[in-house]
Amino acid sequence: MYRIIGITIIACIHCSVMQAQQSFIEKFNLPQVDCELKFLTELKKATIVVPNDSSVVWEKAKEFKKNFMRAEAEVVIKTESNLLKSDFDGNIFIMGPIADYSHWDRFDIPIKKLKRGFKIGKFSFKEQSYGFSYVSPPDAYPIRFAISGNSLKAYEQAHDMPTHGGFEYIVLQNAIPKLIGNGLHIVDLHALLKSLYTYVESKFAIFMISKNLSLEEREKVNNEAIEQYNKHIEIFVEKMKLSLPEKKVKAHIHATQEEIKYFSGLFVALCGSTLHGFVTGDEIHNWMWKESTIVHETIHLLFDPQVNNKSATFLNEGVPTWYEHIMCAEEKERGFLKAIEFIDYDLTSVISGEEFFYQEDDKYYLISGIFTGYMIETYGVDKFKELYRHERRDILYGFEKTYGKPLSEVLEEYKKWLLSKNTNHKLNQ
Ligand SMILES: [Zn+2]
Repeated sequence: MYRIIGITIIACIHCSVMQAQQSFIEKFNLPQVDCELKFLTELKKATIVVPNDSSVVWEKAKEFKKNFMRAEAEVVIKTESNLLKSDFDGNIFIMGPIADYSHWDRFDIPIKKLKRGFKIGKFSFKEQSYGFSYVSPPDAYPIRFAISGNSLKAYEQAHDMPTHGGFEYIVLQNAIPKLIGNGLHIVDLHALLKSLYTYVESKFAIFMISKNLSLEEREKVNNEAIEQYNKHIEIFVEKMKLSLPEKKVKAHIHATQEEIKYFSGLFVALCGSTLHGFVTGDEIHNWMWKESTIVHETIHLLFDPQVNNKSATFLNEGVPTWYEHIMCAEEKERGFLKAIEFIDYDLTSVISGEEFFYQEDDKYYLISGIFTGYMIETYGVDKFKELYRHERRDILYGFEKTYGKPLSEVLEEYKKWLLSKNTNHKLNQ
């Protein structure tokens, strides 16, 4: 997990410099993302408002406040009934289900509360599954920022979405982006996606394939490739002692960087990184057909719901990366060499989440795959799953509880194992 003042990024991004391809945005008249996110970066003072009597939202607000305080902003949390008239002259962040607010109109934002649901321009959203975020336009003052929805779950999904801001409106359904917009320029992403993709159904996945793929790229998504993908899913499920998935994975094969970034909802990536694969809600998004990435993202969706959705990032990325190493010996070799290169580096801070996992290169991906493989091979799958069930904030305790020794000791043994492997490795060369 990655936090920049209230922005949460989950799952897998490998960053590198991207070349702008204006054509897709122009062709489909998509709103431009605001990469400056002034409302977050220049914010000095704000009131977070939560509904009266909602401990869940209050807890979420406290987390949000902590992130802002780290950026030295002055933030207070108030319930709706405790708001003073003067608070409305300053910046307000509204959090929680829209139905829990008695006087929504007082916030004066262009999202209207309906008897059931909410309305943006001509679009109405009445089902419980709809959530949204709203940010006032870049130069507006005072700032209004809202994360809300038609149920507590929909609000929580909006709260936890990978990026906030970038567009004035983001509407989600079951955590999947449905609509984005700036001012009066609102685009129904879901309708656009439906018109641009074809469906191929297989044993474990429904592949949604972009019509914009070149013929050469399209031909890579053939029966043989899909069979091979199915086989990997079966092998992984057996290795990890999981049950076969009940629901098919919705796997998008996008043709361009713009497609994957707009349709996956990782809008912050539009500001300049290359996105290979990403998980959104219960969908996976891939840039073209690359077996290892598609299997990697599918593993996130298979493993986490059956074991733990809130595990530590290092282990969360370690599992699919370890399997990638099983799939590809050269990748394992790359991982091993990386682990040797950083053998004297104390991994405690990245495992505990104190250090950012998603660095510019894929260093920690590779190391997490090697470390996870070591843990599974040394102590078995059951113990690993026991460790994985600890939430990220409890992960250090998780090592003690699961293996009866502190992480420092585990890391010492891991280092010895790496050194002995390295000696064998050199002897074999
Ligand atoms: Zn990943």
